[in-house]
Amino acid sequence: MEFGQFNVNALMEITQRPDLVFVRGQGSWLEDHAGKRYLDFIQGWAVNCLGHCPPEIVQAVQKQSQLLLNPSPAFYNLPSIELATRLTGASCFDRVFFANSGAEANEGAIKLARKWGQVHKQGAFKIVTFDHSFHGRTLATMSASGKPGWSTIFAPQVDGFPKADLNDLSSVEALIDDQTVAIMLEPVQGEGGVIPATTEFMQALRKLADERKLLLIVDEVQTGMGRTGTMFAYEQAGVRPDIMTLGKGIGGGAPLAAMLAREEICVFKHGDQGGTYNGNPLMTAIGAAVFDALAAPGFLEGVRERGEHLSRGLLALAAKWGMPGERGNGLLRALIMDRDDGPAIVDRARALAPHGLLLNAPRGNLLRFMPALNVTTGEIDAMLEQLDGIITGMRK
Ligand SMILES: *Cc1c(COP(=O)(O)O)cnc(C)c1O
Repeated sequence: MEFGQFNVNALMEITQRPDLVFVRGQGSWLEDHAGKRYLDFIQGWAVNCLGHCPPEIVQAVQKQSQLLLNPSPAFYNLPSIELATRLTGASCFDRVFFANSGAEANEGAIKLARKWGQVHKQGAFKIVTFDHSFHGRTLATMSASGKPGWSTIFAPQVDGFPKADLNDLSSVEALIDDQTVAIMLEPVQGEGGVIPATTEFMQALRKLADERKLLLIVDEVQTGMGRTGTMFAYEQAGVRPDIMTLGKGIGGGAPLAAMLAREEICVFKHGDQGGTYNGNPLMTAIGAAVFDALAAPGFLEGVRERGEHLSRGLLALAAKWGMPGERGNGLLRALIMDRDDGPAIVDRARALAPHGLLLNAPRGNLLRFMPALNVTTGEIDAMLEQLDGIITGMRK
């Protein structure tokens, strides 16, 4: 494919991409090669929690890139200590292993759970996961995911990930046997269509895990770092998980992820886990700057307020057009439509003039919204108005 001055054929084809090249971004706005601007309600898939190119990250990169890039994870470095201290201080976990992507953090969680099973549970290794869950694109995390079709594309799968139904405790109980070591879930299924696990379900899983000597693993790659209005989504369910993974927002757009565990779970022996870039000071310095912005007084309260503002706007839109409604948590929300207009709306939104709008449709009848956490109510209102205009045009 060619368009304009660009020949994109040197890039491996992995997905359908629109005919545009993004060249810069600022806050909630992106600009393409032709100078057209887009209001961004995707933000790198819930990644850029402070928007595009926030000053906090620019300054952290400038400062740290002049000090130290990577001494190797075989040595301590200051930013990784600082970020780990912040994360453990803000959560129920005691230790952090840094990674470079959400999938890699989840691989680490799976390895730690299996190791714990070897040490404490006669080699139990099975991890109960859920239909429609998403845990990443490595072989093990694809096997852990409940995405339709994923069990066969790169067969054979990694063994040991039986799938239960979200919010259905008996479906979990039915899968547990002597070889089960853990239950792993997203507090809100993101890619699956913004489907929250209920508080009762999370609490019942904690109880079940305690009774059956299982680990409770929360994949907060999408829900963590303020996305749902608290620093971590598990806090809202009032449970203490054993292991948590973070990604996406933790680096604010830079490749950073983490796996956290309670002290008694940390059974890795030297050499069991590692990685060339893991915990490098450049990325963890960015992570510390992002964390401080999210932890600043009033920030998360603002996320909750803007999440409610977005929720009200989506509900009004749903009422106006006779759609079922909306759901979600904080600034991870979805509009549930009465028909499969999602992909067409996404295309029309991007094509709008003078400025476009970036939206995501994880399912045909669903639009997902994952703006920057510092998006303004004015930007939310502008998005809702554009969306209403598109729907009006399609239903005339
Ligand atoms: C995005 C995502 C992942 C994978 O993260 P990558 O950085 O793309 O590897 C894992 N789990 C959840 C819940 C996610 O949303």
